[in-house]
Amino acid sequence: MKELDIEIIKSFRALISKPNQKVLILPHVNPDGDAVGSALGLARVLQNSGLLVEVISVNDYPEYYYWMSGHDQVTFYSKKPKRVRQLFQESDLLICLDFNNLSRTGDLKSVVENYDKPTVLIDHHPYPQDFPDVLISHPECSSTAELVYHVLKAMDYDKYVDREAAEALFCGIMTDTGSFDYSVSDPQTFQTVSELLKFGIDQDYIHAQVFDNYSADRMRLLGYCLNECMEVFPEYHAAVMYLSKETQKKFNFVPGDSEGFVNYPLSIKGIHFSTLFTERDDMVKASFRSKGEFPANMFASENFNGGGHCNAAGGEVYASLTETLDKYRKLLPVYQELLIKTK
Ligand code: 5GP
Ligand code: MN
Repeated sequence: MKELDIEIIKSFRALISKPNQKVLILPHVNPDGDAVGSALGLARVLQNSGLLVEVISVNDYPEYYYWMSGHDQVTFYSKKPKRVRQLFQESDLLICLDFNNLSRTGDLKSVVENYDKPTVLIDHHPYPQDFPDVLISHPECSSTAELVYHVLKAMDYDKYVDREAAEALFCGIMTDTGSFDYSVSDPQTFQTVSELLKFGIDQDYIHAQVFDNYSADRMRLLGYCLNECMEVFPEYHAAVMYLSKETQKKFNFVPGDSEGFVNYPLSIKGIHFSTLFTERDDMVKASFRSKGEFPANMFASENFNGGGHCNAAGGEVYASLTETLDKYRKLLPVYQELLIKTK
């Protein structure tokens, strides 16, 4: 990872060093393990340092993240919108985590946009939008959770890290690297994990909480999708999976059930671009994963109102699932050169 900019770290530290600061922490909408882990980990450390900290979330996250310390204190905008608006008013500082664009704050976008007190963004997505007062952006970092840990160390706040905080940060790194499968070419990531383990965390337990906690329905849904709802395009090194609402109903789908589905086609020989379309009430959610150089984020931003990292991106389409799949199939020849070129 590139070195942290000391001046930027100093300005962040200055903001949280003011006495009686009320800090609000906000991860992105539909939070994943990195968003939840970095938010709850950072919250815990800042609380340990004596700050008043509230974590808010636009909407709920999967139950397999509920074990993290501080989860029961999170206020969800989807459940308590008035309370969240009040928390914005009462706070002195907003720390945004794990997103690069205000569109990722969902229904809270206008509230964040109009926030008139200092805003900090700590994130590892490329091309961050210019909205925060203090921007700590490291796209080369495995996860926001890892970046948070480095920032804490640089501020001499690692003395406030405890087992609970280390568990949450570890969870962020573990999930954003697919259990240390990708984005781990920097030795520093393992160094960070090694330091987190020294806080006495039980990595087997954490892994099991997140990855061995699914319902039987979810397992059957995966089997069904791989059989019935996957198209492979060997000539484009690509594959797509789709989850219609009908299929979701059949297997009692709950949010989080399709986590990881998009990675499966990448284990087919020769496939290095995988897509998952999930039909929602008013749109289709898209998830993209690639191996090597194919820019999944470019594919997402150019065609599916989205973005993300080179190898993991997402977006959304306001069209039917059938139309979305048609669009996708027509796009493969357009990206043929890039798809064939990249390994
Ligand atoms: P996932 O496929 O796990 O939902 O998302 C993978 C990555 O893609 C996320 O870490 C995030 O960077 C990005 N991403 C997902 N959905 C969206 C979206 O709707 N808009 C943008 N800009 N990025 C997204
Ligand atoms: Mn992340």
